[in-house]
Amino acid sequence: MKTNVSLRPYNSFGFDATAQYFAEINTLEDLQSLIKSGAIKKHKTLILSGGNNVLFQNEIFEGLVVYINTKGIEIVREDENEVIVRAQAGEDWPEFVKYCVGQGWYGLENLAHIPGKVGAAPVQNIGAYGMELKDSFLQCEAINLTTGGTIIFTKEACCFGYRESIFKGELKGQYVITSVDFLLKKKAPLHLEYGNIKAYLDQNGIDKPTLLQLHDAICAIRDAKLPDVKQIGSAGSFFKNPVIEREQFEALQKEYPDMPHYEEPDGRVKVPAGWLIEHSGPSTHSTGSGTTSSGTSWKGWRDEHVGVYDKQALVLVHYGGGKGQDIVELSHRIQDSVEEKFGIRINPEVNMV
Ligand SMILES: Cc1cc2nc3c(=O)[nH]c(=O)nc-3n(C[C@H](O)[C@H](O)[C@H](O)COP(=O)(O)OP(=O)(O)OC[C@H]3O[C@@H](n4cnc5c(N)ncnc54)[C@H](O)[C@@H]3O)c2cc1C
Repeated sequence: MKTNVSLRPYNSFGFDATAQYFAEINTLEDLQSLIKSGAIKKHKTLILSGGNNVLFQNEIFEGLVVYINTKGIEIVREDENEVIVRAQAGEDWPEFVKYCVGQGWYGLENLAHIPGKVGAAPVQNIGAYGMELKDSFLQCEAINLTTGGTIIFTKEACCFGYRESIFKGELKGQYVITSVDFLLKKKAPLHLEYGNIKAYLDQNGIDKPTLLQLHDAICAIRDAKLPDVKQIGSAGSFFKNPVIEREQFEALQKEYPDMPHYEEPDGRVKVPAGWLIEHSGPSTHSTGSGTTSSGTSWKGWRDEHVGVYDKQALVLVHYGGGKGQDIVELSHRIQDSVEEKFGIRINPEVNMV
């Protein structure tokens, strides 16, 4: 276990927080010895993978950061139609997806290029382009941080929801996911309906894409829309898309007929948080510092260190030299102004620690 370790390389916002204690886990034995040492019981503990969905609010993390870096991919079972593949938690997610696509296995292609590691993917049931992790998830193995016992979580036991699971809710901080099993198909229809996939393929003269062409298209679309975290710090979408009651939506729709929306199975309506943020702005609430290109929208707003990405208002960015608190304050201003204008409270997707 090391002390006073800079977390700057371990969080995609690029904040220079310091971990009081830091342990790197390269094998399951490393994790078991750490549990046996009593360090986890003694200190406030954060399980950290790629740090792409974490905001360090303070300059010092007063506790123990357990960095998961276990590697390995194996086939558990395979027949002519499908394959069960197991990946250790510390495997890089985009590389793992690329590997599966390369093998001709269907199921993860729409989740291409989401930064992070395999073990974190079930925590918020990562999703993109109309698919979610749960669609190909079979089960995961996890270790209880108090007892050191191993347990298998089936899909049902994970209680997956929109950017939610039991690991983010009821069992938060209690288990380390050590490996994930995926059930992938050797032949399956591609999902091209969502976002601008079709438009991209048309523009590039691709009529019937292969699995690899779809994977590459999604990578290219994401690259054009999202900041490269090596250049500009971010955690991707900062807020979840709110789901509101139908009556509230219908009332808002009268005032804002262009408001995009998606029907939920339970009759409620999901509204893109990015649209709400883009159609609110610093002037609709508190003044504060910073500038915005349009004067009225948060989109493209920035001050010296942090801002709202100019190509996607859902993404809060760190330009360098700032602190976690700068993002916390900006996120509160955005929440307040969206609530003031639309009567909807948007909530962070990012884990604030
Ligand atoms: C540019 C960008 C784009 C993004 N796009 C998307 C997107 O399209 N869709 C999407 O869903 N997300 C997106 N994200 C968010 C992020 O990529 C995912 O949440 C990803 O799964 C985080 O992985 P990580 O390894 O970085 O996890 P971390 O940030 O390290 O951890 C995330 C959470 O999981 C917990 N955790 C991590 N590993 C484990 C483990 N092994 N066991 C138990 N708990 C664990 C942590 O304690 C923390 O609470 C994006 C982020 C960025 C920066």
